[in-house]
Parts: sequence; C-alpha cells; structure tokens
Amino acid sequence: MSVGGVRRGTYHGRVTEIRKRVLLAKPRGYCAGVDRAVQTVEEALKLYGAPIYVRKQIVHNKHVVSTLEKRGAIFVEENEEVPEGATVVFSAHGVAPDVHEQAKARNLKSIDATCPLVTKVHQEAKRFAADDYDILLIGHDGHEEVVGTSGEAPAHIQLVDGPDGVDDVTVRDPAKVVWLSQTTLSVDETMETVARLKTRLPLLQSPPSDDICYATQNRQQVVKEIAPDCDVVIVVGSKNSSNSVRLVEVALEAGAGAGHLVDFATEIDDAWLHEATTVGVSSGASVPDELVMQVLAHLAERGFGEVTEYTTTEERLSFSLPKELRRDMKARDMQATAARD
Ligand code: SF4
Repeated sequence: MSVGGVRRGTYHGRVTEIRKRVLLAKPRGYCAGVDRAVQTVEEALKLYGAPIYVRKQIVHNKHVVSTLEKRGAIFVEENEEVPEGATVVFSAHGVAPDVHEQAKARNLKSIDATCPLVTKVHQEAKRFAADDYDILLIGHDGHEEVVGTSGEAPAHIQLVDGPDGVDDVTVRDPAKVVWLSQTTLSVDETMETVARLKTRLPLLQSPPSDDICYATQNRQQVVKEIAPDCDVVIVVGSKNSSNSVRLVEVALEAGAGAGHLVDFATEIDDAWLHEATTVGVSSGASVPDELVMQVLAHLAERGFGEVTEYTTTEERLSFSLPKELRRDMKARDMQATAARD
C-alpha cells in the first residue's frame, strides 16, 4: 500500500513504513563533446542564419534534434541532399575522409563538430595504419562513429562487434595487431572482447590510451554503484544512442531489478513502479538535464518525491568550438567593433 511518498509493509508482523525514493546518478547527461556539437549548430544558426544543414543527427537524441529543427537546422543523411554552396555541420560521431572530399566537391562550407575524443581514435587508426598494423576496431556494426573511423584506413581496419565477433578475425601478422574501440561501449563487455581476442592473438597491442571516453566510463560507473539498490533503473535517452542503451545493460548486469530506456517522462509505465521502493535515474551523454527533471517531477507525482543524488566524480572537461566557426565568430565580432568605433 502506498500513501504519498511512503509505502506500508510488514516486518516481523509489525506494520512498517518504507520510504519510496529516487537515487539520481551523477555524472549523467551532456558530455563535453555533445555540449560542443549542440553549441556549434546554435552558433552557426546565429552567425550564418537559417537554414543550417546538419549531416546525420548532430547527437543521438530526439529532443535535441527536434529543438534544433525548430530553430532552423535541417538534418540530412548525406552531403548530396545539401544545396551547393550551403553550410553543413558534421555530427559529433565523426565522418570518414571521403565525406570531407564530397563536401569540397559540392562547394559546401563544412563545420566539423566531431568530438575531439572521436578524432583521437581517428588519429590512432591513421597512425597504426601508416605503420602497417592490422587494426581490430571493437564497435557496433553500422554505428556512425564506426563507419567514420573505419573510413580512415579501410584496408587495415576490421570490425569486431562484441565477444562473438572474435572468431571471425583474421590477421596478416599476429605480432602486428592492435585493438581500438568505439568511444561509447560497455567497458566490461569490451574487456571481455579483448580477453577473447588475446586468447587468439597473445601479442595483441592495446590503444595508447582509453578509447572508451571519460563520459561513457563515468556514467557507467555511477549506474553500476546505484543499481544493486534499485528495484528499477530509468535511463533517459534515445534508442539509437549507444551510450544510453549501454547504461540500461550495465544497470541490469549490476543487479537492478529492471531497467528501461525512455526519451520522455510520459513514456514511463506506471506498472514499472507498482512494486518499487527505490528507483534509479540516469541519462545518456546526449540528454539535456531538463528531460531528467521532467522524469523526477513525474516520479514525484507518483510518490517518489525523495531524491538523493549519488555522485561518483565531478566532470569539468569542456572543448572549444570548431576552429572554422571560431574564426568566423571572431571576424563577426571585429566587424561589429569596427562599425561601433
Ligand atoms: S560520449 Fe564521449 S566521445 Fe561521445 S561526444 Fe561525448 S565525450 Fe565525445
């Protein structure tokens, strides 16, 4: 039985009160790369005016995409859909070099909002390919980031899609192989894939530094810590957001009673909460916090008004806007100053 924020239960025959509560994960939501990519489109709209074309979803979040659409962004799948000479922004997930070439051929003004941590993996791929390594890229087949990274050195890179993909790997020289990864994978599953690869390729080299980015790791870590105390974990994020989907998996593996991914609070099914006392809440790296606040308000209306934020680390990283945009913003500011003087 539930009254307000209190459930009644029995303990040794006595009626006791069990408080319904929310454990709110922190860090959650926007990472530095997403923040930069969204700001890039917003600043481009201010600077050049609408429409601004964006190749692919700038970040994998329905709400972010529809908000930018209302401000004048037009999302397209390929450069061919962008009128010649128009401005196009490349998404945070990164693009293969041929996408830059196509943009040049169409005389597009391109702004590259690829997250610098994805660019780092591209650089690693180029460097190992130049040294003639076979590169095993651990990632999800078809994900935009994987397509972009593979495009840096298609002759040297083969995709390994999770532990089950290990058996299909063939290399030229087992002493000259390195693994790299998509930035938004499950840390534990990736380590399992690497362990299986190493049983086949004992001389397999690791990336020079972690490819799974700080934001993915931090969001997984805090969910792992709260999950054992949660009857249900609700992750706010879109279904095509790799890091959001991974958070639900991590919650379930770490002992949450149930896990659900929702884009919006209205998608929460009351049945998920019937037997719950503790609800965990987190969000993927492409999710604005206002959507999480709406989830908390929705839960409070159902008796889960007590919210405890559980913090594992503070994040302070930020990235500067793409250089081509900064250059044009600076020119605009100088013109404005000159006009005033
Ligand atoms: S999730 Fe990581 S790699 Fe992806 S945009 Fe955010 S910081 Fe960059």
